[in-house]
Amino acid sequence: MAEYQAMPNQLMNYKSKSWWLESLPETIVSNPGLTPRQTADVVIIGGGYTGLSTGWHLKQMKPGTDVRVIESDVCGYGASGRNGGFSMTLFGLTKGITKFRFSDEKAKSAHQYMEAAVDYLHDFITANNIDCDYERSGYLLVGTSPGQIKRVEHDFKIMERWGMGGVERWGKGRLSDEFRTDFYKLGWFEPRCGIINPAKLARGMKNFAESKGVIIYERSPVVGFSRNREGGFTVRTEIGDIRSEYLVFATNAYSVLFPELKSIQRPAFTHIVMTEPLSGEQMESIGWGCRAGIEDARDLIHYYRLTKDNRIVMGGGDVSLGYGTNLNKDLNEKIFTLLEDHLIEVFPQLKGIRFTHKWGGPISVTLDMAPVIGFLGSDHKCIFSMGCVGHGVSMTTTNGRTIAEMIAGRQTPRTDMFFVGRKTISWPPELISYGVSQAIRGFMKIEDRLYCK
Ligand SMILES: Cc1cc2nc3c(=O)[nH]c(=O)nc-3n(C[C@H](O)[C@H](O)[C@H](O)COP(=O)(O)OP(=O)(O)OC[C@H]3O[C@@H](n4cnc5c(N)ncnc54)[C@H](O)[C@@H]3O)c2cc1C
Repeated sequence: MAEYQAMPNQLMNYKSKSWWLESLPETIVSNPGLTPRQTADVVIIGGGYTGLSTGWHLKQMKPGTDVRVIESDVCGYGASGRNGGFSMTLFGLTKGITKFRFSDEKAKSAHQYMEAAVDYLHDFITANNIDCDYERSGYLLVGTSPGQIKRVEHDFKIMERWGMGGVERWGKGRLSDEFRTDFYKLGWFEPRCGIINPAKLARGMKNFAESKGVIIYERSPVVGFSRNREGGFTVRTEIGDIRSEYLVFATNAYSVLFPELKSIQRPAFTHIVMTEPLSGEQMESIGWGCRAGIEDARDLIHYYRLTKDNRIVMGGGDVSLGYGTNLNKDLNEKIFTLLEDHLIEVFPQLKGIRFTHKWGGPISVTLDMAPVIGFLGSDHKCIFSMGCVGHGVSMTTTNGRTIAEMIAGRQTPRTDMFFVGRKTISWPPELISYGVSQAIRGFMKIEDRLYCK
């Protein structure tokens, strides 16, 4: 019997992990933890968008299936409760990298998967009245320098060649109608995209999954799992254990805690700062009437958006790299300061505004920067999903559907996607990986400084 041992992260106060979690309308009372000697048909480790979506889709497809989710903290504690809240169509890091790594045809099919994922999340939220401050205000990629303009043009050309509608080219005139900043030189706007309050979405998904019959354990870090001699799995927490026929790892960047998954992805941290609510006057002074989520076209992108109460959330700029298995190293003062400075560079009229919150969270990065839904073992009964980098809000929701379809034995255009069951390139051992990722990050920084400032 193969035995695996994961080192759980120290439990933290979930409210300290993001403003989204801190400002939820109600304090979370966590569900009871896993107790000894349970059995289920499907066990899902991780209560973020991937795990919850897998759970409710399975119950919808096969209502008689006994599905349990085991979450180490509370649902939404991971990236799902901390992200920027952009529901967007980007697959992996960039269209160019996906095209280079796979092929033009596969990059196009990935984009189509993501367009459908954005629409699917919209339909899920609206059809089920999920209260998550959803605004279908679109996504705007802006070029702010000659290097960035080239990239925006390049992406636009790819979309045109693929025959993809749904994207508008915004020249200087259109941009200055929308924004009071000289920063933006060229943009492309994708109206189907939207912004959400990520923690409200995660908690809404939890409630929805439970309403469909999924059993969810919280405050139950999984410390190990094993394959049973007669087939199936046993999953252990410090207090309880559960046997199941199928096992799903929806642990994203935390997968590094499980030795079997460690080489498939590595965690990196992206960071966010947030302002106080803007006054009516301040809003007037910056424009932004469209309320689109905005990203610039650097390698180490800046992403920013408005909240329902008109705070500005600004993230990205640089990433810090995970080392070892401590996923609580999610604060970086240097990056916070750079983000604050950058916001004032874009909107100098906000000089003096107060930044009230700062946080960070782990994203999952494969060596080729592309997502993967994969298997441990040849029987396809242990499934994992990772590598969505900072673009997983809509994708992970659809990936959950895809995983549920596989377990339910359905073949669909989603289960046939090239990244399902693909061979990944393993990250080298820890120290070398760290060096490799530092080198990639260093290269991106230099490229940004030279061409994309
Ligand atoms: C700061 C930040 C900004 C981002 N911005 C965006 C954005 O604007 N748009 C976008 O599309 N994407 C964004 N992302 C990425 C997106 O948030 C993720 O891709 C997505 O939330 C991943 O969902 P998930 O369910 O796979 O993983 P997670 O939400 O990370 O869930 C994994 C869960 O597993 C649990 N877990 C870990 N170990 C164990 C264990 N041993 N036992 C039991 N449970 C365990 C964790 O507590 C966690 O709840 C951002 C990410 C971050 C961190």
